[in-house]
Amino acid sequence: MNLFDRYRLERLIILITTHSPQLHSMHQYKGPTLNDSDSTVLDQSYNDFVTHYINGESLSSEGRTLPVTNPATGKVIRQVMLADEKVVKRAVDAAHEAFQSWKDFTPTKRARVLFQFKQLLEDNADEITYLLTEEHGKTREDAKGELIRGIEVVEYACGIPELLKGEFTQHVGPKINSWSQFEPLGVVAGITPFNFPAMVPMWMYPIAIACGNTFVLKPSEVDPSAAKYCAELFYEAGLPKGVLNVVNGDKEAVDALLDDSRIKAVSFVGSTRVAQYIHQRASENHKRVQALGGAKNHALLMPDADIEQAVNATMGAAYGSCGERCMAISVVACVGEESTQKFIQGLQQAIDNLAIGNGMDDNVEMGPLVSATHREKVLNYIQYGIDEGAKLVVDGRGLSIEGLDNGYFLGPCLFDEVTPNMKIHQDEIFGPVLSIVRCDTQEAAMQLINEHPYGNGTCIFTRDGEAAQYFVENIKAGMVGVNVPLPVPAATHSFGGWKSSLFGDLYAYGPDAIRFYTRRKTITQRWPSGGIREAAQYAFPSENV
Ligand code: NAD
Repeated sequence: MNLFDRYRLERLIILITTHSPQLHSMHQYKGPTLNDSDSTVLDQSYNDFVTHYINGESLSSEGRTLPVTNPATGKVIRQVMLADEKVVKRAVDAAHEAFQSWKDFTPTKRARVLFQFKQLLEDNADEITYLLTEEHGKTREDAKGELIRGIEVVEYACGIPELLKGEFTQHVGPKINSWSQFEPLGVVAGITPFNFPAMVPMWMYPIAIACGNTFVLKPSEVDPSAAKYCAELFYEAGLPKGVLNVVNGDKEAVDALLDDSRIKAVSFVGSTRVAQYIHQRASENHKRVQALGGAKNHALLMPDADIEQAVNATMGAAYGSCGERCMAISVVACVGEESTQKFIQGLQQAIDNLAIGNGMDDNVEMGPLVSATHREKVLNYIQYGIDEGAKLVVDGRGLSIEGLDNGYFLGPCLFDEVTPNMKIHQDEIFGPVLSIVRCDTQEAAMQLINEHPYGNGTCIFTRDGEAAQYFVENIKAGMVGVNVPLPVPAATHSFGGWKSSLFGDLYAYGPDAIRFYTRRKTITQRWPSGGIREAAQYAFPSENV
């Protein structure tokens, strides 16, 4: 039985088990979930190892492994193998060899493989979103959204014959033409975080590969299966051996990638602490590097905003994916007493109605946090907030979901009266914790945002075009929304933040990625013709000489 048949069979088991009699959570539960015995069946059927995927084949490694957990049940579902230096070397060997021929594939031929890959991603969406939910905890609907955004980057990469067209000028000088062409770098690497296990890798490898590079991906060890599954689909689409390689692992694997001189560029997405480290070490090793870091995204609520709309938008942006998004809104700077009051009341009501449970269940709107350790970290932040004097108006601690007692659930938390220097305002929490900071004016709210060390995304809620324009022009963040709470750029633009949210010059995907994954070569050409013979010129060449 091949991999796809196996997943389909297991999927069938899942469909049967998810339709068996359901238990109901005690808290805010809106629909069915797996009961304990159902999840035992699932966990056993999936009990295996996540290997590496090198040269188009699964590769096992000896040595360290790490348990992969289903955050909704708290159960270990499989083990991921952790690559050492030798495994990484093997992946880079494969990519290095494959580069010699892949770079010579015409862009049109490369695009054909990408078109096929896009089709396979769509055909296998159920399997991919299942793995995303199983290992990350996000809802199936959210997983679908993640996959679609990843596929959009593949669609963009399908346009590579157009995107790689060079720049040409006829007659830059007498009988001289000049053009720039964009050539692949060689082997490039991607290191990705746990919160978008399929999409963030797809921000990188489809475009890098379309440009003629070969790729080594090191996905998050927390939820590694979806990235490997997608890589297998890419091969099924016709990718030649060695063009995409997946090594699973942790710091040891990352360091081996950073130190291999055959890797010419590194794309990283993750926390700021690690982004800084990657940026420094890769730069010291003379690699091109883009390292996207953490975030603390503010919304600004103006007194004239459509409050109902702002509440709905904020609920999704703050609590969707349990707040584990680098574009999540985690602070709302509110201007105006009356509108702020209404906004908070609206949030309280919406939180009361939020369906929390196993993300596998279609009716659930918010799943668990990714791990016990991460839940502990978020709980510590809630305590910091209380200790520093913020007012916890909704307390999500103590949430219990019947049948899922060992899951890493935490209900939505809402703090009011947060002040700029509090730890819960300064640090990225990456959980379902939203802070309200009350501000006297739009300028004061914008100052709060502009002085914050992070600058990924931000948004203003207003009906006033002038206020919105002022915000867009003067706010210091890389991605800005006007009544759009998660202004994640479409695949035809590029994604990146300012300040401590990005180290490096170029953003991820879109036009910046074409520049990141290629090297410009500019050619200036003249053919001897018409019997012109020139005397030696000792002045610097210019039009006038
Ligand atoms: P993380 O930084 O812990 O891990 C990211 C990657 O780095 C993983 O592959 C991991 O194995 C590796 N890594 C971890 N520690 C390392 C070390 N000491 N040395 C070398 N490699 C190391 O991030 P995470 O917890 O997986 O993801 C959450 C973070 O990612 C949040 O801070 C979030 O804001 C950020 N993020 C940012 C963006 C963005 O576009 N700016 C997008 C998604 C997530």
